[in-house]
Amino acid sequence: MLNLSTFLEDSALRHGKRPAYTCHGKTYTFFSINEEANKLANALVTIGIRPGDKIAISCPNLVQFPIVYYGVLKAGGVVVPLSILLKKNEIAYQLKDSDSKVYFCFQGNEEFPMGKYGWEAFREVNDCEHFFMVMPEPQNTLPIDDIQTLSWLVHNQSPSYESIPTKAEDIAVIIYTSGTTGSPKGAELTHANLFLNALLSANSILGLHTNDVQLITLPLFHILAMTVQMNTCIFKGAHCILVPRFDPEKVLELIGEYGVSIFVGVPTMYWALLDYLRNRPEKQPGEHKLRLCISGGASLPVKVLQDFEELFNVLILEGYGMSEGSPVVTFNHRQIGRKPGSVGTPIWGVEVKVVDQEGNEVPTGEKGELWYRGHNVMKGYYGLKEETERILTNGWLHSGDIAIKDDDGFFYIVDRIKDMIIRGGKNVYPREIEETMIRHEAISQVSVVGVPCERLGQEIKAFVVLKNGKTVTGEAIIKWTKEKIAAYKYPREIEFVKTLPLNASGKILKKELRR
Ligand code: ATP
Ligand code: MG
Repeated sequence: MLNLSTFLEDSALRHGKRPAYTCHGKTYTFFSINEEANKLANALVTIGIRPGDKIAISCPNLVQFPIVYYGVLKAGGVVVPLSILLKKNEIAYQLKDSDSKVYFCFQGNEEFPMGKYGWEAFREVNDCEHFFMVMPEPQNTLPIDDIQTLSWLVHNQSPSYESIPTKAEDIAVIIYTSGTTGSPKGAELTHANLFLNALLSANSILGLHTNDVQLITLPLFHILAMTVQMNTCIFKGAHCILVPRFDPEKVLELIGEYGVSIFVGVPTMYWALLDYLRNRPEKQPGEHKLRLCISGGASLPVKVLQDFEELFNVLILEGYGMSEGSPVVTFNHRQIGRKPGSVGTPIWGVEVKVVDQEGNEVPTGEKGELWYRGHNVMKGYYGLKEETERILTNGWLHSGDIAIKDDDGFFYIVDRIKDMIIRGGKNVYPREIEETMIRHEAISQVSVVGVPCERLGQEIKAFVVLKNGKTVTGEAIIKWTKEKIAAYKYPREIEFVKTLPLNASGKILKKELRR
């Protein structure tokens, strides 16, 4: 028997009066979060939700997210977190695809208006409070038409609840992949997957302690924040500062105000924080208590890592993971030592290898696809049998990422197979070009993609965001880059852009750049 929600129950017992979440200046204790989750679990049982039923939630980083998440788990349900940036037809698709029975959707309020997203994307209503449960396919279990508020739901419910005894291999969460390369797929993660990934992240990556304060600005509906931030803090009784929208100024302010000790971000957030400070020399990082920063989700250019570490005098540890891996697969563990540019070594209990197209392991130093197996591997993609069989063979998950293992057992992510450019028959890896170009003194951000070319099949194109106040021509950048990398690898076309297209978790959407 194993239920991820025991993390919350234990913390409510041990650290009940300590702060669990602070959001918009309001603080909630572990005890109160547990009581609210209990009320929700009772309410779900009352409306006929049964173990294994799926419950979708679309909510920015507000305290309602963990309450619904843990409430659903306590009732034996399966949480289906949806991105808050989904449009109407995408919401409809993911609700149907996941067979969700209830939909908790944040409508927006003064502090966090949702505009055309969220509830309004699903249906237009004006006369309710901020949270709704919606039955996508109206069912008779609800004593109302088909919409109600969260407060109506938990009204009069008991704050005590005995969690449903779920099995370790029962599905706890169906998480949609980021949709960076194609349509998002629903990865089924079990209680054991998520329990062990949070436990290992807390103990061997973060060295998390009750006195730590984490700032969560990565969306909680993405697996990185969910596991490495929300679940680790609930497990260890640490305090989370919830920030619904990433804003460099706000983030820096909160880091100082709350004595934040751990920050977790995707690379574009580190870029943005550096850019913000570069443009405002009067605002250098003041006194802070940051002891550790974590980067994952995409590759962090070594130059950005070095600049950030120097400016903040803090260590950044980079890890590698994916929704299908709960997410953490490898990490730069402090105890083992770290190598900038590498994603570290496998977490305990997970095997990682680099293989050729036949699935045979390649020698160290050579490129191949990264495969892994162990306790972090998802059960499968919900409702996608063929996709699951393609990606998962004999317990090995085929990551779709190209990697290299060095002689010390450290892994380096070269690029995604899908992002590799084949130019005149030669393989070109955009990440290598990006790592070089980001060193140019005028370049703030860069993303390289392959574009169709009649003669060579594909040609290399770079999208560049310049640092504030800098001017340089595309030709000059091409010439500069050409001197630093092989002739078949430098970009032949540069397009200057103000911003790069990002998804809700801050990842660059190369598929949009290609388009
Ligand atoms: P989709 O599968 O829907 O196209 P996605 O792969 O971006 O979207 P996620 O599960 O959020 O969805 O992301 C996992 C991917 O992120 C990995 O497969 C890898 O390509 C990339 N990634 C994660 N961490 C790193 C890292 N440290 N360095 C390079 N790439 C990384
Ligand atoms: Mg993926």
